[in-house]
Amino acid sequence: MNTRIVLASGNQGKLRELQQLLQPLDVELVSQGDLGIDDAEETGLTFIENAILKARHASDISGLPALADDSGLAVDALGGAPGIYSARFSSATDGAEPTGDRATRDTANNRKLLTLLDGVPDRNRTAQFHCVLVYLRHAADPVPIVCHGVWQGRILLSPTGEGGFGYDPLFHVPSMGCSSAQLSAAQKNVISHRAVAMQALLQQLPARL
Ligand code: IMP
Repeated sequence: MNTRIVLASGNQGKLRELQQLLQPLDVELVSQGDLGIDDAEETGLTFIENAILKARHASDISGLPALADDSGLAVDALGGAPGIYSARFSSATDGAEPTGDRATRDTANNRKLLTLLDGVPDRNRTAQFHCVLVYLRHAADPVPIVCHGVWQGRILLSPTGEGGFGYDPLFHVPSMGCSSAQLSAAQKNVISHRAVAMQALLQQLPARL
């Protein structure tokens, strides 16, 4: 019998990507938006907490097993910032909600990151993208699957490359000798934080369905 799972995200891109990945398993993935479920409040202080909160919220309301992700950039010289505030970094200090379209926010976030790292030498500009994927069999599941993908890199001195989104133009990937915005989607989908977390999920999920 196939398992219906709710994805705690309204992002159609993520839905498609995960649907594709889970194709070999007998799983039907539906987005929480399609079930009329609003976003959870992300009150956690870590990627793991927020991913669990999102999955629990979606599972609680739908009565289905739930999958959620939380991701972002952690810069070592900034004590891990922007971290869970990655999407709204440029407006995070005054608690304001993000404004403008995604491209405008991305540009403002990147500009803020460069300002904060002004004068920080290359050797201290280490950073990681993180992606946490959480699967709960039900809202009170005490043993969620937690998969954590990490992608190591370095923050560049200026934006480079046209592809990707978010902080990609500032994220230098040492193993490829370029920024993640210069990678093709296919290249990024093999080595990124999200790819690593998804592969781990694919390993662990079948035993828990
Ligand atoms: P979300 O969890 O997918 O909403 O991502 C949160 C934020 O982290 C995004 O808005 C981006 O700013 C940043 N981020 C996450 N993954 C990536 C990536 O692969 N490239 C660039 N930025 C990313």
